[in-house]
Amino acid sequence: MLRPLVRYGHASLQTPAKPVTTFDAELDKLIDDMIDTMYAAPGIGLAAPQVGVPLRVCVIDLSVGKRGGELLTLINPEFVQREGMQLEEEGCLSVPGFNATVARPSRAIVKGLNRLGEPQTVEGTGLLARCFQHEMDHLDGTLFIDRLRGLQKDLIVRKIKKLAKAGKW
Ligand SMILES: [Zn+2]
Repeated sequence: MLRPLVRYGHASLQTPAKPVTTFDAELDKLIDDMIDTMYAAPGIGLAAPQVGVPLRVCVIDLSVGKRGGELLTLINPEFVQREGMQLEEEGCLSVPGFNATVARPSRAIVKGLNRLGEPQTVEGTGLLARCFQHEMDHLDGTLFIDRLRGLQKDLIVRKIKKLAKAGKW
């Protein structure tokens, strides 16, 4: 089932999410809905705060469902290691219509739990490392525009406020 995506300005995007402690049918449903919503958008990653749920859950699939075995569900993820730096343009389903170049690690190792509550460690380079950082930032209430220099962020925020005023956000 698709869930509505919240946009910049919604409190859940600016609030640190809570760790998952219960692996039940409700969590399963949330994860299935997040996967459906990510594929429908379409997007390569989605964090629970983007559907208004304050839990440390994110889903990532660089193939957007086109290749099997690339779907990752990260629960209570933490960085074990981050190295290098890449500068690429990125966007966010919660800040539609805006892109900016953001500095991200070029390689990252993340540990956490899978959807069954089992420990997992995943490693990513390039786009996957960038995606880990972007989605895990959401779990801490941070958006990609928060990682831009002040002026760059102000410009985007001003444009969003204008859109909101016109009822287009
Ligand atoms: Zn995002």
